[in-house]
Amino acid sequence: MLDLKNLTIRKANEHLLARDFSVEELANTFLSVVNEKDRDIHAYLEIYKDIKEQVRHAQEKINEGGKNILIGIPLAIKDNILIKGRKVSAASKILENYTATYTATTAQKLIDKNVVFLGRTNMDEFAMGGSTENSAFGVTKNPHDTSRVPGGSSGGSAAAVSGGMALAALGSDTGGSIRQPASFCGCVGLKPTYGIVSRYGLMAMGSSLDVIGPITKTVEDAEIIFNVIKERDPKDSTSLSSDVYSTKKKGEKIVIGVPKEVLETPGMDVDVKVNFENSIRELSTLGYEIKEISLPNIKYSLASYYILMPAEVSSNLARFDGVKYGMRKEGGDLLEDYLLTRGEGFGKEARRRIMLGTYVLSSGYYDAYYNKASAIRRLISRDFEKVFDVVDAIITPTAPTPAFKIGEKANDPLSMYLADIFTVTANIVGVPAISIPSGEVAREGKNLPLGLQFMAPHGAESTLFSVGKKFLGEL
Ligand code: GLN
Repeated sequence: MLDLKNLTIRKANEHLLARDFSVEELANTFLSVVNEKDRDIHAYLEIYKDIKEQVRHAQEKINEGGKNILIGIPLAIKDNILIKGRKVSAASKILENYTATYTATTAQKLIDKNVVFLGRTNMDEFAMGGSTENSAFGVTKNPHDTSRVPGGSSGGSAAAVSGGMALAALGSDTGGSIRQPASFCGCVGLKPTYGIVSRYGLMAMGSSLDVIGPITKTVEDAEIIFNVIKERDPKDSTSLSSDVYSTKKKGEKIVIGVPKEVLETPGMDVDVKVNFENSIRELSTLGYEIKEISLPNIKYSLASYYILMPAEVSSNLARFDGVKYGMRKEGGDLLEDYLLTRGEGFGKEARRRIMLGTYVLSSGYYDAYYNKASAIRRLISRDFEKVFDVVDAIITPTAPTPAFKIGEKANDPLSMYLADIFTVTANIVGVPAISIPSGEVAREGKNLPLGLQFMAPHGAESTLFSVGKKFLGEL
């Protein structure tokens, strides 16, 4: 059996091209881990039936002299990214057994590189949640401690990578759904700049916040996938070419900003705080200049996210009405059809957010909630613009705690929302952010990973990659 622990995309590619092992051997190794572990972890909602054909096709490409770095690489894909002819459900009953009628641009770009998609991964329903407990198809467990959540909403993708059931995976991030599960599972998770990766074929949650990105084992692997999936896409009118941003470098030395507000965050685990402070010291030892900064409006990020996001959710999810897609329940008349279909098809959290969103957009409340949150969004963006005049990157912990217990927050939405305190800001502002493993903390005899988040100006993913690689010792 191959040594999966140390295998990365880069290394797998070298071995595949040197014929040290075949695409089939590589895929089978991952599948055997799936067979052994996934009954317990439940990272996947479906393992695809056509892996053999995908494998054969990739091997042919290699035999013909193909050299691209992703040929034959076994990947997992979150269940809200479409591939034509394959099932896709956003982990919702309302789309159970729904088959995609077109392919997402990101998935197509990877298919064009001859990756092997092993299967689709579990998630919080329609990407709403931070623990994967909101899936209509069962919870995913954290491979580091199966009594704990893997984070969410891309919990299945993170658990698959962390558990050796895929070499890397695609996730989506609206308020932290790539970074927080990556941090809980000990992976690298990249949320690219809003607009740099096409949203075409991603099921919409909050359209002004959503972005697709990779969950991987190394920063280099995240960069490899990012470079393949980015690019302006005419099918997504909000997408941009990555060179629209001229990233200004401040000087010779990279300056990393530490927002003083972070250390004052209520509810932050002491071990997370200690780990964060140690990480700052390590960065300074690595030669980075550390600067204390202030983002005075960041304290309103979470509150404004939980207004803007449900507002967008309520309009995006209006399309699931029993007529256009998926499940349909027949009532006495059209209204009853809608009520029955949506009442039965959506889970509790989806219904909660649709109601919240409808409320904040309703006449009479629109100004008090939606407009105010939009105004705060601009203030936060301005804080970032100012700070990025003097620093190249900003760091925070990725999440205020390590992975929590399954069931611990499931019935307390507010405490679940508080887990997003450090991640939502990057989505509100649209800047790129990465979560990088920063150590472990012992809890009840198990070692739980922690994550460090770096944010950079729009289009400055390269700063995240270079600092991240240095921090992880990849350089
Ligand atoms: N946990 C956040 C939420 O529940 C983020 C979700 C996401 O990024 N899709 O909204």
